[in-house]
Parts: sequence; structure tokens; C-alpha cells
Amino acid sequence: MTGPNARANSLVNSQDRALRERAAAVIPNGMYGHESVRLLPPEFPQFFARGQGAHLWDADGNCYLDLMCGYGPNLLGYGHPKIDAAAAAQQRLGDAMTGPSPVMVELAEAFVALVAHADWAMFCKNGTDATTMAMMTARAHTTKRKIIVAKGAYHGAAPWCTPVPTGTLPDDRAHSITCLYNDVESLEAAAAAAGDDLAGIFASPFKHDAFVDQQLPNIAYAKRAREICDETGALLIVDDVRAGFRLARDCSWSSVGVKPDLSCWGKSIANGYPISALLGADKARAAAGLIYVTGSFWFAAVPMAAALATLREISASEYLERSEQLGLMLRAGLREAATRHGFALRQTGPVQMPLILFEEDADFRIGYAWSAQMVKRGIYVHPWHNMFLCAAMTERDIAEALQAADASFEALKAQRTQLVPHTGLMAMLAARH
Ligand SMILES: *Cc1c(COP(=O)(O)O)cnc(C)c1O
Repeated sequence: MTGPNARANSLVNSQDRALRERAAAVIPNGMYGHESVRLLPPEFPQFFARGQGAHLWDADGNCYLDLMCGYGPNLLGYGHPKIDAAAAAQQRLGDAMTGPSPVMVELAEAFVALVAHADWAMFCKNGTDATTMAMMTARAHTTKRKIIVAKGAYHGAAPWCTPVPTGTLPDDRAHSITCLYNDVESLEAAAAAAGDDLAGIFASPFKHDAFVDQQLPNIAYAKRAREICDETGALLIVDDVRAGFRLARDCSWSSVGVKPDLSCWGKSIANGYPISALLGADKARAAAGLIYVTGSFWFAAVPMAAALATLREISASEYLERSEQLGLMLRAGLREAATRHGFALRQTGPVQMPLILFEEDADFRIGYAWSAQMVKRGIYVHPWHNMFLCAAMTERDIAEALQAADASFEALKAQRTQLVPHTGLMAMLAARH
């Protein structure tokens, strides 16, 4: 094995394998949700013992440059000293108490100051809480039922939006109308289908669906969504749970000059501490005050203190420019290496949230084999989900990733004719909406 972070330990007879066997006995399927490795190549570790900066260590002590950033929460680096210090200081004072800490007001003020469309904030735990609250707020505001969502867009794992419908009812999404992202005509058709019953339009800041090329928002689509809401009284909701603060120090649709009525935030806003948020304009304030939403941990002060420290770092540091620079370096280097080895990549989306697919790889077999090679060399990449860069990464990290990519393309050439698709993935894709 060549490459800078070559994995010292094999996963055969490993701690990871032993943990998976124990998990299989006490956790359904051994693991669930997006962090289950059942849909990834067998070379991927399931468990991580530790994270620091841009790196993770698996249960066997192998180190990886983590290009997934926890699927989004890691914005500034694992174990960020200032954010952890703010959280620890709050921990000494109190966390989940009988009422919220003063830090909640400070945090709401900080969000309203940073995000241009927002006049108020509510805090919750997961992105799904925020998107579900947005839907309820839109229905409370309009007393109408229909919501428009783009086909394939992810808004969370509640019955109304989960991508795998098992255990949900058609009734759960009976009032969802789908359109195609970036397609003005299909958006207009969806609005027409809603008639005078439209409560809201959900918009991803850019198309970041799994398995397909990413697309930046086209301005005409974003503006039309705004107009339809203005014409009908429906609320425009930007789901910034994934892209929030990765494209802008503001709502992501500030880039196309469109202000939503509501925006949903999560993942990165406290650099990994569990908190999410619904932000809104004055127009939606009364409706947001009418819905009953809450949770045992929603008012916990430690994640709020961490979020406040994260917002300060977002305002004060060059984290965004830095992750863009590194993203450009990664994209250009991968393109060069792939071409040199005879592979054609499709690298789409913002450079700091890259998705890497291969041309002529409809069943992902090449992508799976390449990502397995990368993981064996200590670079954690994903074969079908967008990745994330964090501010703790360095040029040296990217150079190491590119060196591993070079070796991985080389190894892939030899394997190319023997590749087969991943059976679990094929079955899952068949079961999706
Ligand atoms: C992750 C995500 C959600 C759901 O957030 P959770 O914290 O997993 O509930 C919603 N929308 C988008 C765009 C996401 O990426």
C-alpha cells in the first residue's frame, strides 16, 4: 500500500468487525440511518473512536482525512478549541434545565444579526425538526394544505419527507406536490395543481440530492418560487440544513438574491453540537407562535453556547474562503489525476461541497471501487453523497488526498474489468420513492 495515510490495520479480524458483530445482536440491522455502512463498500469502517481537526481514527486506530465532515456538522474542525471551551464553560453552569439559559436570547440575536431575511429564531435539535416546523408554520400562516417539494430533495427523515417510505402512509404525504428542481415550468405546474390550497414551497439552496449530479440554483427558478409565494400568500422555505454557512455567511439563497420567509438550519451551526434552528421573517412570526413544537433537549444551553461561539468564528475567520480555496485545489487535482489515468469524473456542486461521480458508471461500480481504494489509503470519500471540506483542512491534507487519488486510479485500472455493482445499494435504490 502506498500513500501518506496508508491504513496500518486491515479490517479483517479487526475491532471494527468485532463491534459490528456485537452491534448486530443488539441494534436492528447492526446500524441504521445515513451512518450505516451497509450501503458502502466493505472496506469502509463502521465505527470511529476519535476525531481531531480534519481527521478521524477508526476503532482499530487507522487515521483518515475525513472528507465527509460527519455528513455536515464539522465546519471548523473536530474538537475546535474555542467552541469546545465555550461548551465546557456552559456545561459547568448548566445544560438541560427547567428553563432555558440567557444564552438562548443571545443566540437568537446573533442569528438575526447574521442572516438577512431573519427577524426571529426558534431552536430545536435536528434538521428534520426545523423542516417540519417550517411546514407547520406555513400551514398555520396560510391555513392551507399543499406544500411543493422538488423530486429527490432531502428534507429529513419524518413520515412526510423520508426517502424510504416503509412504515409511512401515502396519507403522510398526501398534500406534497413534487416539481423538478431548477425547472420553472414544473414549478408552475405544481403551483397550479395546488390551486388555492398552497401553504409553502420548499427549496434546497442548490440541488444536492444523493446519487445524481449536483446543480447550482438557477436564478429564474429561485425568483419564480418567490413570486409564486408572493402571489398566493404561501411561504417560501429554504432548507439550509446541509449547505448553511458553507456557501455564505447568510442564507444560501442570498447568492441568487432571493429572501425566503423561513429558513431551516442544522448540521454545521454549532460545529457538531446538537442544535438546529428555524429562522423566519416578521411575516411568519405570528404563525410560528401558534404552532406547538418542543422537545426535552431543545432548550439545552451547552449546544447554544457552542452555536454562539461558532457564529462568532463564522463572522471573524476566513473559514469560508479557506474551504473554497482547498476545494478548488482538490477539484483541479482530481480532474488532472483522473484524466491521466483514463477516467472521466463528474465533479459537481460548490467546490467546498463536492460530489464525485464517474462517467459511464450508472450502477456506481467504478465509484465504489475507487472510494474503497481511497479509504484503504486513509482518505475517507463517499461514492454517492456530497462531501464537505472543513476549515481545519490544510493544503498538505489536500496534497495527500491527491497523492492517494493518483494511486487509487492506478489500482482501479487493474480492477476495471472485474468490477460488480453493490447488491445492497441496488436493492435500496429500487425501494426508494
Ligand atoms: C440532513 C438534512 C436534513 C435533516 O436534518 P437532520 O438533522 O438529519 O434531521 C434536512 N434537510 C437537509 C437538506 C439535510 O441535509
